[in-house]
Amino acid sequence: MEGEMDSAGFTEFGKAMIDYVTKYLENIRDRRVLPTVEPGYLRPLLPDSAPLKPDRWEEVLEDVEKVIMPGITHWHSPRFHAYFPTANSYPSIVADILSGALAVIGFTWISSPACTELEVVMLDWLGKMLDLPPEFLSCSGGKGGGVIQGTASEATLVALLGAKARTLAQVKKEHPEWTDYEIISKLVGYTSAQSHSSVERAGLLGGVKLRHLEPDSESKLRGDTLERAMKEDREAGLIPFYVVATLGTTSSCAFDRVDEIGPVCIENNVWLHIDAAYAGSSFICPEFRYLMKGIEKADSFNFNPHKWMLVNFDCSTMWLKDPSWLVDAFNVDPLYLKHDQQNSAPDYRHWQIPLGRRFRALKLWFVMRLYGIENLQKFIRKHVALAHHFESLVRDDERFEITAEVVLGLVCFRLKGSNELNEKLLKRINANGVIHLVPSKINGVYFLRLAICSRFSEEEDINLSWNEIKMNADEALKEECKE
Ligand SMILES: *Cc1c(COP(=O)(O)O)cnc(C)c1O
Repeated sequence: MEGEMDSAGFTEFGKAMIDYVTKYLENIRDRRVLPTVEPGYLRPLLPDSAPLKPDRWEEVLEDVEKVIMPGITHWHSPRFHAYFPTANSYPSIVADILSGALAVIGFTWISSPACTELEVVMLDWLGKMLDLPPEFLSCSGGKGGGVIQGTASEATLVALLGAKARTLAQVKKEHPEWTDYEIISKLVGYTSAQSHSSVERAGLLGGVKLRHLEPDSESKLRGDTLERAMKEDREAGLIPFYVVATLGTTSSCAFDRVDEIGPVCIENNVWLHIDAAYAGSSFICPEFRYLMKGIEKADSFNFNPHKWMLVNFDCSTMWLKDPSWLVDAFNVDPLYLKHDQQNSAPDYRHWQIPLGRRFRALKLWFVMRLYGIENLQKFIRKHVALAHHFESLVRDDERFEITAEVVLGLVCFRLKGSNELNEKLLKRINANGVIHLVPSKINGVYFLRLAICSRFSEEEDINLSWNEIKMNADEALKEECKE
């Protein structure tokens, strides 16, 4: 087609982009982690409408630096400590180029057999790396298996829908006179008051009640709390059907007591889903697997390699012991999606909410092969060590306190004193823009969270972040004295 980029143009543009990306990532420390732009900054930098005639790619690339970069928060800078990490690695970026070139939509086996089959095998590889119970793995020959979802939020919703279908089928057998609507209105799910907001959202989207239970003083949801709540609800005529336990909460990286919760779920015939979005990656190291004790009692398990295992967004891996509840719940089978090989391989469209799906298993394959398990483990261990290094810097300054046990790559800390003082401290830090943190609050206590995020982070970077925090603390305390 006239005016279309030809293959020579693609090669040139592609190479230039690879060079640009390499320079960007290798020099990311030189950029201010937070942008200084104001809302609406971008529109004036662009023409009012799309160009009638094609621009040159060189012009587009120049505009990336002029228009886009000023409005980027640099998530891969070692100065970025907000939220949790999002992953990034060269093998993963290259895999996404290939996925973009193949551009297949793998909703059924026949729509691209490699897309489905590589995903099945990669989820087995990864499941073995975490030492998941064999019932979750496809290679064990049972019903179980894994799937790549876009996000942990989708995994939580999909598991909820599977749990809903399972309970609906069971209750209907016992009470054939009850309508679906009557049963659904009695369903109740449970999670900790400190679980991620996406769990509450799954309840809203799934049209069921979800109760938030208080965790213990270490932010762990306990088995007896859950048991009491289920008993209360049963006595009130409700039907417990779903529990989401978190391994590594977003606020403070706390671990619900799955070893206590699991038996309660089995006793009550309730689906247990585990959200290990961040912490799950650490289970590739044997020394962190004590944190997932009791996982064999769960029905589904999910974590995000796109957070902490060097696979670029989006790649949220989920395993189910019995995916048939999902497949049955979501099974609509129009003629144009039927094929002769149905039932010999999973048709992943039944395991997820959208129909379309990208070839995301390529990223997992490239990353696992080009790092090797050993280097992925080293990466996790390095981040945990850097978190403990930061923890010791904080502990050595008696103006500060650590507010939660440091288990993985997150450190929760605050200045001894009021919430207000800590709010002022954080405001100063983020206004300076040298480093970036976000706060959280547990039981009314406001604290700062420092997550080790970048794969470029070294001890000197952590020292720099600490100095920036100390300097702002000096100022905040000085100001408080004046008041
Ligand atoms: C980050 C996080 C989520 C949300 O992950 P998405 O993949 O963005 O949906 C859910 N739960 C926990 C514990 C998280 O840390």
